[in-house]
Amino acid sequence: MAVDVTAEGTDKLFTYLVPRSLAGRLTPGQWVRVPFGGRRLVGLYVGPAERPPEGVALKEIAGLLPDIPPIPAPLVQLARWTADRYLSTFPAALRLLLPTEARRQEVRTLTITNYRLNVDDVEALVSELRRRAPRQAELLAYMARVGGEAERAQVLADLGESIAGPIRVALEKGWLTAGRVARRRDPFADEHVEPAPPPVLTPEQEQALASIRQELIAPPAFRQPVLVHGVTGSGKTELYLRAIALVREMGKNAICLVPEISLTPQMIQRFRARFGGDVAVLHSALSAGERFDEWQRIRRGEVSIVVGARSAVFAPFENVGLIIIDEEHEQSYKQEAPPPAYHAREVAAERARLEGALLVLGSATPALESFHLAQTGVYRLVSLGHRIDNRPLPPVTLVDMREELRAGNRSIFSRALVEALDQTLSAREQAILFLNRRGYNTFIMCRSCGEAIQCVHCAVALTYHLGDDHLACHYCGYTAPVPLVCPSCGSDKIRHLGAGTERVEQELQRLYPHVRVARMDVDTTRRKGAHAAILKRFADHEVDVLVGTQMITKGLDFPGVTLVGVVLADTSLNLPDFRAAERTFQLVTQVAGRAGRGDRPGRVIVQTYQPDHAALQAAAEHDYHRFFAEEIRFRQELDYPPFAHMIHLVISGEDEAAVAATAQNVHRVLAEGGFGGQILGPAPAPLAKLRGKYRYHLVLKGPDVRAMAAEVKACFAAARGKWRASRSVSLSVDVDPVSIL
Ligand SMILES: [Zn+2]
Ligand SMILES: [Zn+2]
Ligand SMILES: [Zn+2]
Repeated sequence: MAVDVTAEGTDKLFTYLVPRSLAGRLTPGQWVRVPFGGRRLVGLYVGPAERPPEGVALKEIAGLLPDIPPIPAPLVQLARWTADRYLSTFPAALRLLLPTEARRQEVRTLTITNYRLNVDDVEALVSELRRRAPRQAELLAYMARVGGEAERAQVLADLGESIAGPIRVALEKGWLTAGRVARRRDPFADEHVEPAPPPVLTPEQEQALASIRQELIAPPAFRQPVLVHGVTGSGKTELYLRAIALVREMGKNAICLVPEISLTPQMIQRFRARFGGDVAVLHSALSAGERFDEWQRIRRGEVSIVVGARSAVFAPFENVGLIIIDEEHEQSYKQEAPPPAYHAREVAAERARLEGALLVLGSATPALESFHLAQTGVYRLVSLGHRIDNRPLPPVTLVDMREELRAGNRSIFSRALVEALDQTLSAREQAILFLNRRGYNTFIMCRSCGEAIQCVHCAVALTYHLGDDHLACHYCGYTAPVPLVCPSCGSDKIRHLGAGTERVEQELQRLYPHVRVARMDVDTTRRKGAHAAILKRFADHEVDVLVGTQMITKGLDFPGVTLVGVVLADTSLNLPDFRAAERTFQLVTQVAGRAGRGDRPGRVIVQTYQPDHAALQAAAEHDYHRFFAEEIRFRQELDYPPFAHMIHLVISGEDEAAVAATAQNVHRVLAEGGFGGQILGPAPAPLAKLRGKYRYHLVLKGPDVRAMAAEVKACFAAARGKWRASRSVSLSVDVDPVSIL
């Protein structure tokens, strides 16, 4: 029999013979090792070859990847769909189906040695041995005492390393037999969670759950995905837990996706308190061994619930009944690199369709695309408009920072924010200050020539970091000492401008020397566990004010927080990107939602230079519908998503002329190859240079994304690589980009 196998780096299928040793043992979805041009590669057996190539001596499959069960057929289909939809190769998409370390065979099932006692009358043997071989007697008595079976490591720990000799003798005599058992690497090994009974649902939650139940039991052809639009603090997580419980009762499995940053120990504990050991987790903080073992537990059906980040949408379950995406608007659901640049929400929708599962999306600030689908009847909209216990949403005050300047206040804190901080801190309550820029000064400018000091590799201003007194590029990591004179004109009139979180922290400490301040951003959370440690200190009220970037905007539930300050809302508003307003609305709403979640009411102060901006006004009113109405009109007028799909092509390389020429060629390949949609560009990208490479981009637009993707593929196939002006130029393709910078 001949079979087709995929291999890395190419979209072709290769045909192999099945050796006799594997006859009858091969099922589609099986990972195999194959000889390939003098090397051994890992491939995936796709299915029998339709027509084996003629006149070619076929090679045999070398063997199976040990220890790895085949991938369920719907997932192989899902990988195929993902490759087509996001314009990657099929093998690149298949990589999503197995942890990298497992594919590279760098990790395997951990097995340990254990011993079993094999003596009928232990007492007699022990008393016989006691005099002439006391250690031997001790070993056998120990084995009898622990029930006849023990792990080697445990025996050595209890009886001392020197027991190894008597063990060897006992094995020779046949008193003990040795075996190997699999040992799970358990990410929760050190944590004990008390089971927690479910709380009573609010009437709104009851209604929402009833809607989800209806969809769960509906015939798949009539099943509508559910969008849960719930204000912050309205109890969405409890709703997810109830929905998962329903699906379990139906004998099916559930996948719950959560943004990576929200996958805190507290979050996972909530699931484990409800479902105990029936929960597996998949996220990047696991060790390779833990990830492999969790993957195996899912594959073998030992759990029925997976909680995980983006890639868990490919969890190797069979019989999935429910896929939940919490905070579905989060950009982290979009993969950036390596290809395929998939969006977990789209993949989840396709997986739900393939497997007849229900898709449930939840957010306080749904993505425009999702809410549009709810408005047009594709999704079923479920609203949670009230917080638990009818706690009010915190009032939001917009502070015009231009007024502050006019009144002579040059501080980064407005008078209103300082007053609110005074009150909060003297009442021994907690505050959160949010600013979506890290570092101390966000740029350094020469007053003589007006130049901002830029990264040598990127067209990006360098950020000043006070902690280690240097300039850093937040795109490529380049660092440099602070120059004493301007690199362009030699003037010494260098000014530091723009505040980042480091500066906020310092100013706060200057204003309130006795207040305990912690900062949470990429710089303070590089170490493993640092993120959780800061959150714990804040939860235990060892910290009064938490300063942070968007890391602090989601999922944090600290009842002691009564004040949230947005130090500058404009940072995301001015980006040259069509999602700038949406991003700003989401950030401000989410961070405002951290206030007043306990018994005491909260309030929010948002500082801005654009207090009249519609997105900020809507966020201040907690009015998603108003924001949506405004923004959807803008998107329709300009033919942006959700009214059109986009494909973002970025051409980059060190030689700018070659990059520009290639970008022109790409335009020609598409225009002359019959691409049916709009072609915008080429033009230098807003981030015109990154990591030493110049960047040009094109944006393709059209109504039907699958048709567009197929056309792009066909155009490039027809051009046979002749569009590349130099081999050093590379092209990246992003279908439905979340940003086009
Ligand atoms: Zn200068
Ligand atoms: Zn630094
Ligand atoms: Zn850089």
